[in-house]
Amino acid sequence: MKNVLTIAGSDCSGGAGIQADIKTFQAHGAFGMSVITAVVAENTCDVISIHDIPVINISDQIDAIFLDISVAGVKVGMLSGEEIMNMVAQKLAQYQPKNVVIDPVMVAKGGCSLMDPAALNVLQKKMIPLAFCLTPNIPEAEVITGKKIRTIEDMKMAAKAIYQMGAKNVLVKGGHFLGEPTDILYDGTEFHSYKGKRIHTKNTHGTGCTLSSAITANLANGKTIYEAVRSAKEYVAGAIQNALEIGKGHGPTNHFY
Ligand code: PLP
Repeated sequence: MKNVLTIAGSDCSGGAGIQADIKTFQAHGAFGMSVITAVVAENTCDVISIHDIPVINISDQIDAIFLDISVAGVKVGMLSGEEIMNMVAQKLAQYQPKNVVIDPVMVAKGGCSLMDPAALNVLQKKMIPLAFCLTPNIPEAEVITGKKIRTIEDMKMAAKAIYQMGAKNVLVKGGHFLGEPTDILYDGTEFHSYKGKRIHTKNTHGTGCTLSSAITANLANGKTIYEAVRSAKEYVAGAIQNALEIGKGHGPTNHFY
């Protein structure tokens, strides 16, 4: 069994963040570990408050794992500010784990900001070069590249621009476009497109976290990036199709279906 780590925020309602990541790792037969960067008080309707974990403690959590346990893959999710992001980048550069998948989390579906815009520069200069795979959605890719994305061609240009910032593979997720969603993967040589079926449901809380965790677990389990993305997309589609009617808002995807 491979040991897989998530460095991310905690969603007390269990649908996104650390909780989604650990469930996804488990569903992929991996041993899940967590470095908690922030405790988010949230539910299926809204984010209520965010408590950042002190940087020294996040740093200690990372050291505690890497000084003791072999890590086959790392998913990076919510890093709310510049200081946390700088430290996480420095620690990843120090330990050089394989299969680092970075989900550049910025805003929750309800509109609440999960990343201070002042951290953008650190994301671009220090985090992105550490990514084996970066998984921005369209709004995140727009913020990272500073360019509007309206077409598949724009998605390809954004993937290329982010690749040039240092990520080895870039998956721009097309779910924010109307109609059938297409995701674009750029590996520095060619574009691969992954077409999906639009699943009509309001219960999509945590889909981005789940996808990036599934890609990480698949890579840790030895799949190629192309197979890791294909299989992760299939897993997330099933998790959305079988989503749970929990709470009054956007219910969570079902990690075990
Ligand atoms: N809460 C946490 C801790 C997250 O890391 C994320 C996204 O990565 C979200 C909430 C957002 O979840 P969603 O936009 O799917 O509702």
